[in-house]
Amino acid sequence: MEMRFALEGLCCPACAAGIEQGIRKLDGVDDAAVNFSARKLVITVKENANSGRIKKGAAKVIRGIERNVIMVPGDKGGTGAKLKRRPVPERVFFLAAMGTGAALFIAGLVFDFPPPWRFAVFAASYLFAGGDVLLHALKNILRGRVFDENFLMAAASLGAFAIGEYPEGVAVMLFYQTGEAFQRLAVNRSRSSITALMDIRPEFANLREGDGLRKVSPETVRPGDLIVVRPGERIPLDGVVTSGCSALDTSALTGESLPREAEPGGEVLSGAINMSALLEIRVTREFGESTVSKILALVENAGLRKAPVENFITTFARYYTPAVVAAAALLAVLPPLLLPDALFADWLHRALVFLVVSCPCALVISVPLSFFGGIGGASRQGILVKGGNYLEALTRADTVVFDKTGTLTRGVFTVSAVVPREGWKDEDLLSVAAAAESNSTHPIARSIVDAYGEKTDGIRSCRETAGKGIRAEVSGRVVFAGNARLMEEAGIDAETLKALEGPKGGTLVHIAVDGTYAGYIAVSDEPKPGSKAAVAGLRAAGIKRIVMLTGDNRVEGERIGRELGLDEVYSELLPHQKVEWLERLEAEEHGKKLIFAGDGINDAPALARSDIGIAMGAGSDAAIEAADIVLMTDEPSKIAAALRVAKRTHGIVWQNIIFALGVKAVILVLGALGIATMWSAVFGDVGVALIAVFNAMRAQRLPARGT
Ligand code: ADP
Ligand code: MG
Repeated sequence: MEMRFALEGLCCPACAAGIEQGIRKLDGVDDAAVNFSARKLVITVKENANSGRIKKGAAKVIRGIERNVIMVPGDKGGTGAKLKRRPVPERVFFLAAMGTGAALFIAGLVFDFPPPWRFAVFAASYLFAGGDVLLHALKNILRGRVFDENFLMAAASLGAFAIGEYPEGVAVMLFYQTGEAFQRLAVNRSRSSITALMDIRPEFANLREGDGLRKVSPETVRPGDLIVVRPGERIPLDGVVTSGCSALDTSALTGESLPREAEPGGEVLSGAINMSALLEIRVTREFGESTVSKILALVENAGLRKAPVENFITTFARYYTPAVVAAAALLAVLPPLLLPDALFADWLHRALVFLVVSCPCALVISVPLSFFGGIGGASRQGILVKGGNYLEALTRADTVVFDKTGTLTRGVFTVSAVVPREGWKDEDLLSVAAAAESNSTHPIARSIVDAYGEKTDGIRSCRETAGKGIRAEVSGRVVFAGNARLMEEAGIDAETLKALEGPKGGTLVHIAVDGTYAGYIAVSDEPKPGSKAAVAGLRAAGIKRIVMLTGDNRVEGERIGRELGLDEVYSELLPHQKVEWLERLEAEEHGKKLIFAGDGINDAPALARSDIGIAMGAGSDAAIEAADIVLMTDEPSKIAAALRVAKRTHGIVWQNIIFALGVKAVILVLGALGIATMWSAVFGDVGVALIAVFNAMRAQRLPARGT
């Protein structure tokens, strides 16, 4: 079972990791995950666990780590809510304290005070600059959290005072506080720019009641209700236009900047903005099922699935700090004991440098921020990634396996020929076929029903076999409509089918009525306009092997494969055979990852089974559920774009890791040799963190093509 909470006021990423770890240790808890950017907490509890006790325990953990965080049950609050900044009086107070501290510090440096006064000036300056850090450190020690950043800074600066290096002690605090303030600002800005782009939650719906309109919350609107959307308003629920023609801005959903037409009879998705004229819409899905809710849920949960590097950093942070602090202790004590003319004060000074750089904040903050930025940037292009782990996995992909229909091809079939067998008329063949297909949602079925154009009736039981076709009783006759495999079931031998097949390509829907073959209907489907470019884009992004799996016949499969320049095509596959092929291809991967892209009609199992399943957003709900990445625009070219975002995010994360650890290592070495000052150590802490955060912010910008 899962318990969900919004964490209002959560503003320190390191605390998010601490909260996670604390809650995981509670009795009855299987797992806990905090999404810092969306301020969400999800606790997975064991069966029969006492959820009330866990909730209390979690609240206690949170209070112990970040006092001001409020835990709100359920999915309320969170992303849509405005960011809480420090309240104004507190900010003014903070600036005043820093200003006074800095003024006293400068005075202490400029004027040559006699020793007791010199101490007094710097001590006062120190208290102004770092009083609250001392206070926090003390509180945290009482709660048993020793290696907390406040404590490290307090220990280092007090140590500097102890050996008479007053200016350094003050400088540590001043720099630290300034760096932290900038860092908070940067983190908040980056977070609000990410959440702003996800702020697609509609506030209200105008419900039609008789002649009037009533403003209601979208949750209360039911399917079948009529709603009105004025120009400039966001469409609150999915539905079908009943009157009005307008243009829709769907960029928040698809990243597509071209407006889309809306006209009577057309389907519209919630989240799009109505641009030009009044639209009346009959609601088809309730709010929880509507596109906008699904996207929000997807993105909010994205931060909960962490990439391996994120977990690595959290683990690393747990060992790094104690290790450096232990090294500092040894450095302060051993050399004075072992070396003949080593001075304790000198080596203590060197050890303090260690304390200052022993905080891994730069990484703890910037790594999750990079992933969330990458996910946010991708979603702005209509690519919904369900977790940092998938973004990371994309960087190791070298094979892409495509489904054909609806993925590489448009999935919109048109009937190109009706070829009846002797004794049948075109009209009659089309009419039984249309009747048999009338209950199916398969694109082939839709094309036959559309080609017939009239209403069909007389259909009784009907059974659809995925990857084969349909069997139905139409006016007392048993009708089979589907591919050659289905004809086997209907008792039609292969020779009969061959005899009729002409030179025409396309997908053939054979029809058998009461055990005899009646003819076929040829339907055809064309590659999507962007498919060829998508294949080229994948090759440019370093994909080595591009494969297509299809349930369609070999001739048609190979025609499309040749046209698009694919490496391999496997046809006439049933859904479970697609999965078997995936497993075979995956076994040939040797540590690399495999991407499967499908539209979900007959391939949800393959989506779920592959390393990285990518679903077309227009596909079925099951597909969106099973997939790891959803492409809102259905364009296969977005896979290459996703790869670019993934590579860039990966690059930024590793730049930060190498940069932060590199600078810290250099400072540790120079510090041990007595060359690095504490000033440079403060840079090694907050300065590096700030630079890492700024670098992480790049992850949310759209990568240029070809990078
Ligand atoms: P793909 O693998 O190309 O996405 P599917 O697995 O959806 O295709 O379908 C495979 C084949 O099964 C189709 O090419 C068609 O021959 C047949 N088929 C599936 N459903 C139907 C149907 N409702 N009517 C007729 N033929 C069907
Ligand atoms: Mg398909």
